[in-house]
Amino acid sequence: MHVEFLGTAGFHPNAHRHTAGIFIPDAAPDDAFLLDAGTGTWRLIGRDLPPRLHIFLTHAHLDHIAGLTYLLDVCFGREIEVTLYGDAATLHAARTSLFESPLFPLPFAHPTCEIAPGEALQVAGVKVTSFLLTHPNDCLALRFDWSHKSLAYVTDTAGDDRYFDFIHGVDVLIHERNFPDRLSGLAQASGHCTSSDLVRAARASGAKIVAATHFNPLTPTDPLLEDDVYAQIPGVISGRDELCLEF
Ligand SMILES: [Zn+2]
Ligand SMILES: [Zn+2]
Repeated sequence: MHVEFLGTAGFHPNAHRHTAGIFIPDAAPDDAFLLDAGTGTWRLIGRDLPPRLHIFLTHAHLDHIAGLTYLLDVCFGREIEVTLYGDAATLHAARTSLFESPLFPLPFAHPTCEIAPGEALQVAGVKVTSFLLTHPNDCLALRFDWSHKSLAYVTDTAGDDRYFDFIHGVDVLIHERNFPDRLSGLAQASGHCTSSDLVRAARASGAKIVAATHFNPLTPTDPLLEDDVYAQIPGVISGRDELCLEF
């Protein structure tokens, strides 16, 4: 299987990074998964896609849902069965605050499926579980368990340890690191992680592959060079748009 970073910035895009989107094109033989739908969603326009696309939203902040409005073009002229997953508040915000609102003229055209935090669901034969993170207006950590592999996606969370049991033992951990340690006050105020928080989470997970994403778009260089994250997490991968990993 593959995981591709469609967008690796938090908050807003910059010249090199769009906002949140993690794409698993081969989650099942006929099913692709998209984790969050920020502005990076435009990268799916015109691409070869399997017949079914499952979009999992972690929360309703704009950097995670703005790209839902691009689905019109993603699906234009072809048959793709799209299903949108999220907790009740997130689905409500997407359907009524983003779509069919002063922000966008048309209704959301696809079925939705509510995620109850903590309860497992099966999607295309994959076990999907979630955990409610500490973030303004909440955010879901998502975990995907195939028969032999697992992947956890933890974005937009304060740097606490409440979710460490949830991510323990995953093969792949994709985790946010919005701020360097020197901006820990800002991280706390906005419910985000610093380098040190990422390091603690990576160690707690024991993941074989750790990839960081959701970077401060004002950072001009590789964000993991800050705080010497490469030395603290051996093999850590710095997410960048269009990076594709095999797992
Ligand atoms: Zn975000
Ligand atoms: Zn957020």
